[in-house]
Amino acid sequence: MRTSALRTSGMRASAMPTIARPARRTLVLALALTVSLATPLAAQSDEAAAAKAFTRAEDLVAKANYTAARALYREIAERWPKTAAGQLAALRAQGNAFLGRAPLLDNGPSANRIDIVVMGDGYMLDKLNAFDDIARTLPKNFARDPVLEEYLGYHNFWRASVVSREDGIDGFGRTYDTALGGRMLPNVHGQATVDRGAVQRILGEIPEAEGLAVVFVKAGQLGTGGGGVAVIGGREDDTVIHEWGHAFAGLADEYIDQVHRGRTADSINVAGSGDPKTVPWRHWIEAGAPGIGVYEGAAGMQRGAWKPTTGGCVMEHGRYFCAVCREAVVLAIHRRVDPIDGAKPEPGSTLRSKPAPTLTVEVLRPRTHGLDVRFWVLPKAQAPAERPEPQGARRDRAERGALPPIAGEPDWVVFNAGKQVQWKVPVRERKPGTYVVVCRVRDTTKVARDTLPWVLKDDAGVLESERRWTLLVE
Ligand SMILES: [Zn+2]
Repeated sequence: MRTSALRTSGMRASAMPTIARPARRTLVLALALTVSLATPLAAQSDEAAAAKAFTRAEDLVAKANYTAARALYREIAERWPKTAAGQLAALRAQGNAFLGRAPLLDNGPSANRIDIVVMGDGYMLDKLNAFDDIARTLPKNFARDPVLEEYLGYHNFWRASVVSREDGIDGFGRTYDTALGGRMLPNVHGQATVDRGAVQRILGEIPEAEGLAVVFVKAGQLGTGGGGVAVIGGREDDTVIHEWGHAFAGLADEYIDQVHRGRTADSINVAGSGDPKTVPWRHWIEAGAPGIGVYEGAAGMQRGAWKPTTGGCVMEHGRYFCAVCREAVVLAIHRRVDPIDGAKPEPGSTLRSKPAPTLTVEVLRPRTHGLDVRFWVLPKAQAPAERPEPQGARRDRAERGALPPIAGEPDWVVFNAGKQVQWKVPVRERKPGTYVVVCRVRDTTKVARDTLPWVLKDDAGVLESERRWTLLVE
């Protein structure tokens, strides 16, 4: 019997504070700039010197030279206490502190990737290198699950170096002074959890972060997950995917234990009633998906809660997501990542027909399958209403809604596209007038080894994206 049966407790997303993501530039430079507008020359040179030294300290953190970095932060704080960089350095010189960040796996621009920050609690300065070893293995750990492996290129991973004054976890009447307030849940399992506000404050200092973190609590065991934050006690690799399922996709536990009692409401992968016609995953049953049905015993409860499978979902005791959970993870990824990574000329611009314009569309590429790309050239009156992509760091692409269908065959199609598609718009056969060129990219989620697509139901249409241009044919 693996201990993973007891490893978790879901957390409500609504309990999480929301922190706006800062603009994509370093915090210090932004602070220095703000101050420089209203400060005399001598103070300005202080700001510049402090900011420069601060950047040097951050570089030391990125190179995992923590002792030197902390000494430098202390020096900056003492030498330039009135500067913005000096004040931030004072915070970073404390016993419990965020020291800085470094990329672990860079798969592209943060604006269109899922940026996950890995941090630790209970790691004292001389143990931070041990944390770095754990952090380094996280992308590989994610890739052990086939869904996360297929879409690993949609993710960036960052290491946040967080130092704690003490090494320990609160529980059994003892408390420790740590950066993220790691503690055991007061139940028989004692799963590790942390102060999520402290996690979000650190994420607020990382320009690329978008509220998502994996936290390793050094002295803890088991884990918890919810609201974008997965907490792992110790370094139980098997727990990571399970907690990420809670944290990222809002999945519920599919296991039974002795603690939970009562009633449960419907969620993605757990139902409060056992009727196959009403469970949230009924579309999988209707499609005849192998191994998917309605099984009693879930959300920690023996009775009164039903799950889609007994086939070893990672939300129960298994290693991988079941088909129902897998669909939820793929949709959650697409709520943050647009399958179209970029396009030229600038979408929305007006193209002229002489010479015939060439469109270049950058398309994301999962590991083993390509996306479908379609182009239409439509007379202006025939183009359906436009639904622009939501913008911003914490956008939810589901808010856009499904794209309206386009009547008529596309003018050009690329199946299983590579990372870039180019199309020379055929203008010769067009009568003079104004047209709309539409490019739609869709992830079919058809992965060769599976008979059914990974997503059967995409009500918000997040698997699809669109760009448009106006075309003037002279
Ligand atoms: Zn599942």
